[in-house]
Amino acid sequence: MRRATKIVATIGPASSDLDTLVRMIRAGVDVVRLNFSHGKAQDHIDRATMVREAAAICGREVAIMADLQGPKIRVGKFENGKIMLVNGEKFILDADCEMGNQDIVGLDYKELPTDLNPDDVLLLNDGLIVLVVDKIIGTAIHTTVRIGGELSNNKGINRQGGGLTAPALTAKDMDDIRTAMSFRADYVAVSFPKNATDMMMARQLANIAGDAQKHRPQMIAKIERAEAIPLLQEILDASDGIMVARGDLAVEVGNAAVPALQKRMIRMARASNKLAITATQMMESMIVNAVPTRAEVSDVANAVLDGTDAVMTSAETASGRYPIETVEMMASVCIEAEKSEDYRLDTDFLNVVFTRIDQSIAYGALFTAHHLQVKAIAALTESASTALWMSRHDINIPIVALTPNLGTQRKASLFRNVTALELTQSEDTDAVLKAAQDLLVAKGFVEKGDMVVLTWGEPMGKVGGTNALKIMRIGEY
Ligand code: PEP
Repeated sequence: MRRATKIVATIGPASSDLDTLVRMIRAGVDVVRLNFSHGKAQDHIDRATMVREAAAICGREVAIMADLQGPKIRVGKFENGKIMLVNGEKFILDADCEMGNQDIVGLDYKELPTDLNPDDVLLLNDGLIVLVVDKIIGTAIHTTVRIGGELSNNKGINRQGGGLTAPALTAKDMDDIRTAMSFRADYVAVSFPKNATDMMMARQLANIAGDAQKHRPQMIAKIERAEAIPLLQEILDASDGIMVARGDLAVEVGNAAVPALQKRMIRMARASNKLAITATQMMESMIVNAVPTRAEVSDVANAVLDGTDAVMTSAETASGRYPIETVEMMASVCIEAEKSEDYRLDTDFLNVVFTRIDQSIAYGALFTAHHLQVKAIAALTESASTALWMSRHDINIPIVALTPNLGTQRKASLFRNVTALELTQSEDTDAVLKAAQDLLVAKGFVEKGDMVVLTWGEPMGKVGGTNALKIMRIGEY
């Protein structure tokens, strides 16, 4: 069954054996996310090797996304591993505290006291615990517990409304970028970027680290800071895509603001020719249950209707009991949502502005394919940029990116409604176009007599060189 929306699956202890990975990829995983908040460099290297092996067994390419930990501010450790905070009690956060107890705990960000003022609200453990700042004395942040609960080692801290100064890229992130480039991660997700500069810096570091491998990853900005929202356009311009990182974002801006922000972010990403991933708690109850809730099914379906490129799993597939069932369930919800009459997002692309020849061909192909109702569009491409432009508009016709380039094939795994396949190019254009048609038939996209639109660049094999479009009937070469 054809599915346009892609699935990004986080892997972890529940999914780091070859058999489970193979079954997850067969169930529909398009991109595997390695979460650098957990595990050592070697764990990620081993997992990346296993993902490539599993994909080879399945006979298709999947992309690998390295998700950096970023400057998540955390409390230190407790003598007994955890404490119970009670409403109304006093509690101190102090970077100088080595071991926490019922009254005080350490911090891994020494500047936090200088970022805060009395009456600021601190949200711990994804907002489950709420502290209000009373006063700051030296390194000690004195608070009153507004909403208590269990607080265990290394839980995260956010300030309601955002505004903490921790820089986006930590020393650990820089090491992790080098690790990710050693296995040619296709995507790097940057946590907590505040502005375009953070993304540009991350890209520069990734390009330098990837230089030895001649590899340039795609950069995804995780939108999870309140101050990133007004700067969304500049962040998009500096990135290849965004992740609607609803976990931390909800803590900073409040849960209720997130659904409308999700729609705005996806709309802006598509309009800017960038990718969008919708993340966090999509199938949360499947961490322990074999079936999702109705609300989770609706959440995944609504992200599809919003136009997301991909829906993402976190703990469901990293540490949950049902990693394969979660992917199967997500895939079937996406397929069903894509049948909806509300799904045609923007077939009217007459107002799109473009200046480049390759982009004109991409839109020309879309327009033609839509009006002639062809069975498939095949974009012969080096970099997948034509396929990306085409995929920003849903016309319910499969887009097949045909490329000789393995990195491009993997990269395009994340593009909505794009299937990337390997096709060798040569100067014999007629032979390549025939091979393209044969491949479309072999992969079940078209049959003899069906109409297709093909785009390519003359001479073949040059990035940014797409300058030709042909409408063909399969079998009539
Ligand atoms: C999020 O906060 O929603 C998110 C995806 O980030 P992480 O899982 O890295 O905390």
